[in-house]
Amino acid sequence: MSILRVALMGHPVLRMVAVPVPDGLIASEAVQRLIDDMLETVDACDGAGLAAPQVHQAVRIVVVNLDDGQGVHVWINPQVQALTEDVRVRLEGCLSLPRIRGAVARPVAVRVLATDRDGQPVDLELHGFAATVAQHECDHLDGVLFVDRVDPRTLTFLDELRRYGAWPWMDDDEEDEEDEENEEDDEDSLDEYDDLDEWPTNEEVD
Ligand code: ZN
Repeated sequence: MSILRVALMGHPVLRMVAVPVPDGLIASEAVQRLIDDMLETVDACDGAGLAAPQVHQAVRIVVVNLDDGQGVHVWINPQVQALTEDVRVRLEGCLSLPRIRGAVARPVAVRVLATDRDGQPVDLELHGFAATVAQHECDHLDGVLFVDRVDPRTLTFLDELRRYGAWPWMDDDEEDEEDEENEEDDEDSLDEYDDLDEWPTNEEVD
């Protein structure tokens, strides 16, 4: 297994629509090796997830750590369906945009349909943090970066975020949209996000 070089914003692969993995190739050595390398890379990054285009492979594979005690999930050809129009605003970052954070509103609950690395079907209903991670990673498969969805007023460098705090520009209306069931973790959202995005710089990954 290898830790792979991570593509940074500006690399064309991050803007490509990734191609599906044919069912017959899931068990192939090439696909299984890519998955192993992605797992090693996301572990080295201490990240919540990684999409194949971020390691220069425009195929529809993501690995996601949902913090559910089940290790890192591997989703091949995932589809994400919003289960609600309720949105939650969280700070996001990305290994492909080191040291940048911004507030993104996303549906608070999603269903994920995919295939795992053994060719078995995946059907999950995710809420809160896990729903955010799933949407962020699967966006990469369509060439979408979180900055495409960000409230641009909230963009900040990580050092400035730590110095001055999170999104003071966010108004009360947006907070009111947050899902009641997630209210208990509101105060922790920034800490959660630090967990999500303690991405190293590219040099560290390399
Ligand atoms: Zn990302």
